[in-house]
Amino acid sequence: MKLDGMVAIVTGGGSGIGESTVKLFATQGASVVVADIDYKNAERVVELVERSGGKAIAVQVDVSLWPQVDAMIQTTLDTFNDLNILVNAAGRQVHTPDITEVSEDEWVKVMDINLKGVFFCTKAALPIMVNKGQGVIVNLSSASVLEGQTFSAPYSVSKAGVEMFTKITSSQYRRRGVRVNCILPGLIDTPGSRNVEGKLGTFDSFVKTIPSARSGRPDEVAHLILFLASEESSFISGISVVIDGGRDAQ
Ligand code: NAD
Repeated sequence: MKLDGMVAIVTGGGSGIGESTVKLFATQGASVVVADIDYKNAERVVELVERSGGKAIAVQVDVSLWPQVDAMIQTTLDTFNDLNILVNAAGRQVHTPDITEVSEDEWVKVMDINLKGVFFCTKAALPIMVNKGQGVIVNLSSASVLEGQTFSAPYSVSKAGVEMFTKITSSQYRRRGVRVNCILPGLIDTPGSRNVEGKLGTFDSFVKTIPSARSGRPDEVAHLILFLASEESSFISGISVVIDGGRDAQ
């Protein structure tokens, strides 16, 4: 039990990497807040956790709206009386056309969810963690930041922002007891990536570019998140970890 007695919030916990993380955390003894804009899916995940004997609650939240993020933290404290771990996995995966064709609306939507959402959740969680002198945050960036992938300027820029935000959060709060790290996944087979890549018919062609000759599984990312959230990584803060089947190194 690597997270025995811990309380964790997983945003985007209703699907994909977030869902796998919730399930893994629960098996490791954490009480988990499944925070997602899609309440039905959050409830589904909670049911699965409870059926296997774990503890979880569903909270509906749009991470880009401060009052809802604030309420998510309050519900966490009211229910579990603590907060030790925040995993920022909520995200909007998109393909967009070249920059001249990207609408302001799409740019703002992606930045709001992927970047402002991480800022809001971090801002709301930090006071509790700092107060105790202990806390862990794991952010989901993307391997798309490594090569300036052309499939979406707003997506890749938002994820590059998450990486920098991770470093700054660590530099400002590590001395106050909070560890912050970020993960850069390559192609992981989730409803989110299937939705985007599948529509364009690019999922299988992308897989061909991965030296491991397959996409990643959400549970493989969840295990990395668990490592970064647990005491096993107690001396690690402010870094980005790539999990991409060897794609960046070819
Ligand atoms: P997913 O689409 O399967 O799950 C994302 C979840 O976030 C969904 O349940 C969705 O409802 C929720 N969400 C979306 N907007 C929200 C909002 N405003 N407030 C709260 N919840 C919201 O995605 P996934 O593939 O599991 O990705 C998880 C994270 O990992 C994302 O940040 C994504 O950008 C990142 N990532 C994924 C991949 C991949 O290949 N799957 C690669 C790199 C990075």
